[in-house]
Amino acid sequence: GRMTAGIPALPQPVKVQEIRHSKLFINNEWQRSCSGRTFPTFNPATGGKICDVEEADKEDVDRAVQAAKAAVQRGSVWRRMDASRRGGMLHKLADLMERDRLLLATLETLDTGKPFLQSFFVDLDGSIKTLRYYAGWADKIHGKSLPVDESFMCLTKHEPVGVCGAIIPWNFPLLMFTWKIAPALSCGNTVVIKPAEQTPLTALHVGSLIKEAGFPPGVVNIVPGFGPTAGAAITNHMDVDKVAFTGSMEVGQLINEAAAKSNLKRVTLELGGKNPSIVFADCNLQLAVEETQKGAFYNQGQCCTAASRVFVEESIYEEFVRCSIQNAKKTVIGDPLDPQTTQGPQIDRLHFDKIMDLIESGKKEGAKLECGGAAVGEKSLFIQPTIFSGVKDHMRIAKEEIFGPVQCIFSFKSQQEAIKRANSSQYGLVSAVFTTSMDRALSVSAALETGTVWVNCYNALHAQMPFGGYKMSGIGRELGEYALAEYSEVKAVTIKLSETI
Ligand code: NAD
Repeated sequence: GRMTAGIPALPQPVKVQEIRHSKLFINNEWQRSCSGRTFPTFNPATGGKICDVEEADKEDVDRAVQAAKAAVQRGSVWRRMDASRRGGMLHKLADLMERDRLLLATLETLDTGKPFLQSFFVDLDGSIKTLRYYAGWADKIHGKSLPVDESFMCLTKHEPVGVCGAIIPWNFPLLMFTWKIAPALSCGNTVVIKPAEQTPLTALHVGSLIKEAGFPPGVVNIVPGFGPTAGAAITNHMDVDKVAFTGSMEVGQLINEAAAKSNLKRVTLELGGKNPSIVFADCNLQLAVEETQKGAFYNQGQCCTAASRVFVEESIYEEFVRCSIQNAKKTVIGDPLDPQTTQGPQIDRLHFDKIMDLIESGKKEGAKLECGGAAVGEKSLFIQPTIFSGVKDHMRIAKEEIFGPVQCIFSFKSQQEAIKRANSSQYGLVSAVFTTSMDRALSVSAALETGTVWVNCYNALHAQMPFGGYKMSGIGRELGEYALAEYSEVKAVTIKLSETI
């Protein structure tokens, strides 16, 4: 970028004159919905409508699934394509996303309200790295030869599952899009993906890049629409072989049920969390304060990984609370397109009301409101960064996912007690431990019932590391080598030999 006295200029949002892609993307073509219906998508920062988007329903999903099915059939261009070339196409898609990075980050901010620099550095960076990581895997996915008893030659082959449905939420629209398509395509599958109804725009722009990158028609199909219609059509479809879902626990249960009742399609679920952080007295206090608060407030608190229960050892509890209040003052609330802004609006009115209701419940149930606790301005969707101390395990704010900029601080006396309380949740997505003792870090991380444990850090996600939940936080793993298993069928080929070798 441009340099001013040695300091690289910050990336700037682009002026979006018109939204280029708002139709369904099926078979590499832009299509109208069968019903002719559209739905509006809004800018949560202003409340203004950005544009209308074609609304997919059952018939459209069926068209998309038929395209995806034809594209993955034995003998198809995609199925016969060299694995290395498949990887090359994923790299090409990553190149095109880099080319359009400013536009994609701007669209993401317009549609979600997340601060532009976060869109640019976190969402785009994570998306591009995920594509490149799985591009590398494409020609390294292979089976084994196994030493069985007697005279057989035994091989396993890793084959694509087939048509992969994907249903994703609004909090990280582009990142979740790439977390789904990258491993699916790397393994040779085809995809029908439904973005969240609140945030369809970046997915549709990437549809145009998928075509430009040279993926054959039908390999990726994008069907914006609503959950109970378009989403349910994917999960109920007899020709969808697998569904990958990220979203709420309640919808996750519906999806698992629909999958079981239709064709027993394979299911992976990434659901919510009520994620504990345990802060020990021997920690680096400033680090723990900053990381747990980043964990609580990042993306307006709208993260499945949100640090929503912070357990602090009694002897440093008061100091921790005081420093956390200080740290919260650094938050810059404002226009998400302004590079100075660190906190934008919540996604929509419904969600805003849900968060405000939980904040009220915290006040009523006797937690101590240390700061925030109210909306910013009238009629807006901005909420002040909010800290509750003295939170007790029975309160609603201690049990329910808030998904807003609300930090809940608890105190604890012993390590054993902290572990027990941390684990007393139906969820088990992520957790964090802050300590300078190696011994404590290892024993506590061994005891925590979560798919990820962060030690002295938070939200440290990497394409190479598996991500997913224990207990009711989900089924299966995304990212890393582990995700490949979720997008492959293993075929065992047993060959009888006439002579012992
Ligand atoms: P949601 O479950 O309501 O919606 C997620 C997606 O599911 C949307 O695309 C929606 O249209 C679709 N959907 C809704 N009803 C459906 C149905 N009956 N059949 C098929 N699809 C349906 O979730 P939300 O409230 O929009 O998002 C917030 C939730 O997502 C939180 O609970 C959060 O923890 C979770 N989340 C989890 C992760 C993770 O990786 N574990 C990541 C982000 C968000």
